[in-house]
Amino acid sequence: MKYKEVFSPNFIQLLNDNLGSESENQRINPDEELATSYVDVESLLKKLGFEVKPEKSLGVSGELRDKTILIDKDEVEYRQRFTMAHELGHAFQGKVNAYRKNDSRDYTVSDRKDEVFANKFAAQLLMPRKLVYKYTEDYIDDKNLDRNKLNKESVKEIKDYLAQQLNVSGKSVEFRVENLNLFVRTAG
Ligand SMILES: [Zn+2]
Repeated sequence: MKYKEVFSPNFIQLLNDNLGSESENQRINPDEELATSYVDVESLLKKLGFEVKPEKSLGVSGELRDKTILIDKDEVEYRQRFTMAHELGHAFQGKVNAYRKNDSRDYTVSDRKDEVFANKFAAQLLMPRKLVYKYTEDYIDDKNLDRNKLNKESVKEIKDYLAQQLNVSGKSVEFRVENLNLFVRTAG
């Protein structure tokens, strides 16, 4: 799939206009194919001219310093990916400096609003609705499931498949699926 098939053209335009730079050719090409089944956030960051620096003993999950994103290299891959997307969310907000603190109790009310935004941004970037729908359909077709009568086990299998294809944690998928209202609850 191409970037423009995964994200809305409007979103790509906003990313390019807010974060990219025309002169240095640092932009996302909407016609470029995704090289992986998931959104490779690190390569996306590079396209926008960001540098990702894995660090040891960073003390926080991630940190945004202008066009550099520091990442705690000791954390698991999906966590690092989420942090990169989260910090990109802050950059998208127009921030030049941001931390991803490990303890949520350290946040002020205004910090919390920014955190909610960055987390939503990250979820939408790493689990675009179109990809979530596509992989769900793929799985249903592949396993010959009845889409109108998905039982608990099938739903669990689909969520596992989504986490694997999108390279995110099971917990992230739970939130996103809930948020998209993907599986309508049925009685029993
Ligand atoms: Zn943050």
